[in-house]
Amino acid sequence: KRERTIFTQEDIERAITRMSYEIIEAHKGVQNIALAGILTRGDFLAKRIQHKIEMLEGVQIPMGVMDINLYRDDWTQISHHPIVRPSKMPFSVDDKQVILVDDVLFTGRTIRAAMDALMDFGRPPRIELAVLVDRGHRELPLQADYKGTTVATLRNDTVNVFLQEYDGEDRVFIKED
Ligand code: 5GP
Ligand code: MG
Repeated sequence: KRERTIFTQEDIERAITRMSYEIIEAHKGVQNIALAGILTRGDFLAKRIQHKIEMLEGVQIPMGVMDINLYRDDWTQISHHPIVRPSKMPFSVDDKQVILVDDVLFTGRTIRAAMDALMDFGRPPRIELAVLVDRGHRELPLQADYKGTTVATLRNDTVNVFLQEYDGEDRVFIKED
């Protein structure tokens, strides 16, 4: 398998910074917004965005974590039925515009399940989506509001998102089938 690096540590850092600015700009500040990171790497990305926004605006926006039953470690598996549930949601979903954060957007099924879970919890006035990598191949009519990068992949390619907190290094690379 051929390996191709698409994001270095600096690229990831810049993308997080830009996405944080975009969130602040779109919301004209940080009032009534919250982050919900999807385990396992979405929560680390959400934390980084939370930290960056705090540096820029001086406000720590609330952050929750969503757990998914099926960790998509085998994302070559075509059909899946992810079930997502809030595992830590330290804010009222009823009055927060919630920004879901995940590492990779692929078919969209995980995000659909995450939206279901959020709406079981309450009635957020708005749900948005931030992802580090959009790799295409959507199976649902859904897109990210904030994204690090879009990369053309074949269905069987593997996108590896390595984050310092979890993998000991920051790097995104594709393994071609
Ligand atoms: P989807 O539900 O959109 O098909 O897949 C998105 C979820 O599965 C995300 O939580 C993401 O972490 C994981 N995922 C799907 N495809 C990939 C991939 O190619 N690489 C990585 N690292 N995660 C993926
Ligand atoms: Mg994930």
